Amino acid sequence: MPGFEIFGKEEKQEIQDVLDTGVLFRYEFAEQRKGVFKVLSFEKEFAGYCGVKYGQAVTSGTAALKVALAALGVGPGDEVITQGFTFVATWEAIFDAGAVPVFTEIDETLNMDPADLEKKITDRTKAIIPVHMLGAPARIEEIITIADRHNIPVIEDTAQAAGCRLKGRHMGTFGRCGTFSFDSVKTMTTGEGGMIITDDRNLWQNMSEYHDHGHDHVVNPGGRGGEGRSFIGFNYRMMEIQGAIGLAQLAKLDYIVAEQRKNKAALKEAVAGIRGVTFRNILDEEGDSATFLAFFLPDAEKALAVNRVLKENGAGAIYFSDNTWHYYPKWEHLINGSTLARSGWPFRDDGSKRKVVYDPKVLPASAEIIDRLLVYQVPVILPESRLEQMIVAIKKAAEI
Ligand SMILES: *Cc1c(COP(=O)(O)O)cnc(C)c1O
Repeated sequence: MPGFEIFGKEEKQEIQDVLDTGVLFRYEFAEQRKGVFKVLSFEKEFAGYCGVKYGQAVTSGTAALKVALAALGVGPGDEVITQGFTFVATWEAIFDAGAVPVFTEIDETLNMDPADLEKKITDRTKAIIPVHMLGAPARIEEIITIADRHNIPVIEDTAQAAGCRLKGRHMGTFGRCGTFSFDSVKTMTTGEGGMIITDDRNLWQNMSEYHDHGHDHVVNPGGRGGEGRSFIGFNYRMMEIQGAIGLAQLAKLDYIVAEQRKNKAALKEAVAGIRGVTFRNILDEEGDSATFLAFFLPDAEKALAVNRVLKENGAGAIYFSDNTWHYYPKWEHLINGSTLARSGWPFRDDGSKRKVVYDPKVLPASAEIIDRLLVYQVPVILPESRLEQMIVAIKKAAEI
């Protein structure tokens, strides 16, 4: 999965370009920077790679979600629908925008179940955030058909699916915008960082201004603050060193995906020998970014037994049912309504007595799927000796 595995001289050279100018800020310093605009170049190249017009770099994938929600006008009183299997950042951003997250079931794509989405739309729903978890697509076309019928914008959380395609088209390009993360464990990394991509010029302009205190970057290109600010913003600016690393990593993205596909195929062949095993529904195998290998056992008991043998033999898989980062029933701070705010916000609106309650049992269909799911992260570099060790472990598990 992670671009950090192949961090090398290309990244160092890009960083050196920035250090040579001494300009770490993405705007201004026109003379001193000698034409070096790494973040701006990274935005253009990333958008171009995905096949859209605009990219807006930000400080993280969480910030990308927040900026997208802000640019779409989401705020207090609104509901935003996402899935109960995602990283906590997806719903943190919704709360941070002042809105309330509503969670759908997943299906065997491990992503949003469109039928459940339809049931959860209300007249308060102001955005839908399907997540392309573990490197493979949600049923994005069906989700967009439903969203369009209700005239609700779709933000694709593509943090885990850089380089992934559906029918030749990059994830993140189907909705009104797509958000990416380049944190240290993502498919490509800038250490910390994120990006929003879109074809919508007005939306991009709002994101560009919002992420930099409301400053405009169009009136005064390459710089900022031609002023005439239209609205208040915040600071989510990416710095030049991150942009530099992003350029080098983006150039390696196709290679990363190709290596992962090879390694995933080898692991999948071995896992297929486990009695009763089935695989995650991947909507387009050709476009799989192959970041993870996800497989199901017939029930939770069997999944745990298989994983016990895998672990004993040095090749334990991730059991997301126990994972406190990615799965609704394990988010104790959400379920307990824990917050630093004295008012109880966001679980209790200041204005109303209404308490927003999250119940770990509301997603039974997701639980049925997650409880029998095992997942391997697929490395970019998989030495022959490690692959052999994993195959031996998997063969032992296949005998139980
Ligand atoms: C990593 C991740 C994020 C957040 O990205 P950061 O850059 O770590 O803030 C958001 N959504 C999903 C699905 C992620 O995996």
